[in-house]
Amino acid sequence: MALRDLRYDGDPILSKKSHPVKEMNDRLKTLADDMLETMYADQGVGLAAVQVGVLRRIIVIDVGEGPIVFVNPVLKESDGEQVGQEGCLSVPNKVGIVKRPEHVIVEGFDKEMKPQTIEGTGLLARALCHEMDHLDGIMYTEKVEGDLMDVGSEETESEELKNGDFDGE
Ligand code: ZN
Repeated sequence: MALRDLRYDGDPILSKKSHPVKEMNDRLKTLADDMLETMYADQGVGLAAVQVGVLRRIIVIDVGEGPIVFVNPVLKESDGEQVGQEGCLSVPNKVGIVKRPEHVIVEGFDKEMKPQTIEGTGLLARALCHEMDHLDGIMYTEKVEGDLMDVGSEETESEELKNGDFDGE
C-alpha cells in the first residue's frame, strides 16, 4: 500500500463526474487499499477516488466501525434530516454546516465486486452522501449553509505535538 497525493479544492478534476467500474482488477484493488491508507493518514472518515485523481466510482469510509470499500454506490433510499458540521480532506482546515439525510440505504459492490448494501444513520449516512457527491463532481462547499469556518489551528497543533510528529514552525 502507498499514500496517494490528494487533490485540493480548485483542482478541476474535483468537479468532474466519475465513471462506473465495469470490472475489478488488481490496479483498482490497490487503488482502494491506497485510498484507505491515505484517508487514515489524514484522519479522514471518507475518501472518493477522484480525490486522489482517479475518475472511478469508488469510495472508502471508516466512521470508526471498520473500513468500507464501495464500488459503484447508488443511493436507494434516504429519509430524515440531520444538520451538522462537515469537512473534506480536499478542503483542509475548513468545516461547514451541511444538511444531509439522517438515514440512507446504499447499494453497490464491494472490493471483490460482490453486491453490497449498506444502511447508515448519523455519521455513516453523512459520510456516504458526502463521498457519493464527489463521484458526481459535487463538493460539500456547494451545500454549506452559511460560511465555511476555519478549524481551530491551536487545537490541531497541540494534538500534533502530543503525537510527536509536529514538524516545526
Ligand atoms: Zn470530501
